[in-house]
Amino acid sequence: MSDDAPYPSVDALLHRALEHVEEWEQSWGAFDRHPSLGVDPDRLDRVFGEYLERLEGNYPFHHPRYAGQMLKPPHPVAVAAYAAAQRINPNNHALDGGPPTSQMEQEAVAELAHMLGLPDETLGHLTGGGTVANLEALWVARELHPDASIAVSADAHYTHERMGRVLDADVTSLPTDARGRLRLDALEDALQHESIGTVVLTAGTTGLGSVDPIADALALCRDHGVRVHVDAAYGGFFRLMADDAAPTVEGFPARDFVAIEQADSVAIDPHKHGLQPYGCGCILFRDPAVGRFYKHDSPYTYFTSDDLHLGEISLECSRAGAAAGALWCTLRALPLAPTDGVGAIVGACLRAARAWADHIRKRDALTLLTPPETDIVAYVPTPDAPTLSAIDAASQSLFERAMDDPDEPVFTSLYRLPAEALTTLCPQFEADQDEAAVLRSVLMKPEHETCAADVVDQLATLARPPTDA
Ligand SMILES: *Cc1c(COP(=O)(O)O)cnc(C)c1O
Repeated sequence: MSDDAPYPSVDALLHRALEHVEEWEQSWGAFDRHPSLGVDPDRLDRVFGEYLERLEGNYPFHHPRYAGQMLKPPHPVAVAAYAAAQRINPNNHALDGGPPTSQMEQEAVAELAHMLGLPDETLGHLTGGGTVANLEALWVARELHPDASIAVSADAHYTHERMGRVLDADVTSLPTDARGRLRLDALEDALQHESIGTVVLTAGTTGLGSVDPIADALALCRDHGVRVHVDAAYGGFFRLMADDAAPTVEGFPARDFVAIEQADSVAIDPHKHGLQPYGCGCILFRDPAVGRFYKHDSPYTYFTSDDLHLGEISLECSRAGAAAGALWCTLRALPLAPTDGVGAIVGACLRAARAWADHIRKRDALTLLTPPETDIVAYVPTPDAPTLSAIDAASQSLFERAMDDPDEPVFTSLYRLPAEALTTLCPQFEADQDEAAVLRSVLMKPEHETCAADVVDQLATLARPPTDA
């Protein structure tokens, strides 16, 4: 455990990283930079000043009071490791484009596969993000079963349907329950009556962080000889909390995370819960033989070893070696362990969501919609009249007022839920419109655990200011 270890200084790490790379560059011999690369110092000063000022237009993603979308800065180790490799700018398309970072990519990808319980021979690589990782999975699904359709749930990430169109693959949509989880009865019906080649299951929906019944759905798919792709772009790292050594977390579907080990392919995003900057997704295939679909004959690719080129098993060509280096370095410093490193972080996030839910339950001014499965909490300001139109207006209003609070702004996000889901989750609600906005907080920073009481109190007070009557 690293309870008393200090938070690393990004300044110190960056300085060390850039100085080291600079010395390495100089070791190759001095040369004069071409005059065309120069920039007038006054202009640079102005431009850079304007740039830095414009960045202030961001929301404070780093702060515990930012509890809105899936956003947080990378860990200082990732920032510095990325900067060091980025300065050299290796391209992990080919082994010769960046030998060290290509090797690191293979090692880091193997660690992700191992965490998820996939076999040693798993074939995988990093991608620009979850969308491309899923695209590759759907593409392999179509190549394997060109005449069958790919089934995705109504609450699966919206890009599956879009990528189905890109691939000209038939995509079947399956209904979900009120929490956004694939309905097993609907899956069974589809498996019996439709020609389905691959089913996409989600381990942590982007909406409510819900987890499909992966264990049971996988068993059904196996019975029908149907492949399974698990979209664990968001939730993949929570697999650490399903380990026997991890502390138990109430309502966490550990069994479904363990079942991911049986999937045919898995997408996981290190740029979500893996502490990385954007540009780091990962696709994993159980059967390395699917690598044959990627075969290409690029005149640019040079071969100096018998090893498989990462560029030969990726749809993308150029990819940042820095992304692989940063992930490798981060996982060395913060290992994929159940009670240490990344496990300690995602465990705190899961507990943060339970703490938020508990505090919301204690406040009359707020209504919890459903107990969290992962680290996303959905709630509404308790309206005077329980109609969806009142809830819609109250959610919008609290969202804006919390963000505009001059002293202690709180950032949440709005999420639209259909009337049927809302009235199932909260039978006291009356559907006077088709859908309503609710508040959604993604608690992907471990600090959200400690600030739960304060932030929820503040939201509750804003939702219904105390009266002196
Ligand atoms: C974020 C997310 C994606 C898309 O990944 P990007 O990295 O944003 O391209 C896909 N599926 C799920 C479940 C996600 O949460």
